[in-house]
Amino acid sequence: MSEPIRKIEAPVRLEFTVEAGRALTRFLSSIVEERIVGRRCPECTKVYVPARSSCPTCGVPMSEDVTVADTGTLTTFCIVNVPFEGQTMKLPYVYGAIVLDGADLPILHLVQGIPANEVRMGLRVKAEWTPPEERPASLEAIRWFTPSGEPDAPFDAYKEHL
Ligand SMILES: [Zn+2]
Repeated sequence: MSEPIRKIEAPVRLEFTVEAGRALTRFLSSIVEERIVGRRCPECTKVYVPARSSCPTCGVPMSEDVTVADTGTLTTFCIVNVPFEGQTMKLPYVYGAIVLDGADLPILHLVQGIPANEVRMGLRVKAEWTPPEERPASLEAIRWFTPSGEPDAPFDAYKEHL
């Protein structure tokens, strides 16, 4: 009697192409020009960044473009201490949820320019843009966020965005 097979390795790979659609195309073509465009839901009035075509909560189309600031508030974050394949950032580094001024939902991005152990909820941050000649049409157009120097936002100012 041989040992039962308990485990096999089965590498799986999927490749697919995503059509950006009108809303995301607007966001991507704007971000290379150093503008961040979201869309406002006509029912709940929330501004989504990146812009999307419909509100996932209300299920209605969104068509009102809203340009938001490249400053915002760090609401939550994690400190990355574990090395992984393909890693480009020096450990430890911070990855956080940032609600841009004028937006209602956070984007996820890197936070630099401050020791990881000093990062905190409510930290006010600003985008550091990549140079125009090397700016991609993606959220990587923003290299990372750094402290803006403003006082921390009080919890009440961002508690609805967690
Ligand atoms: Zn809505």
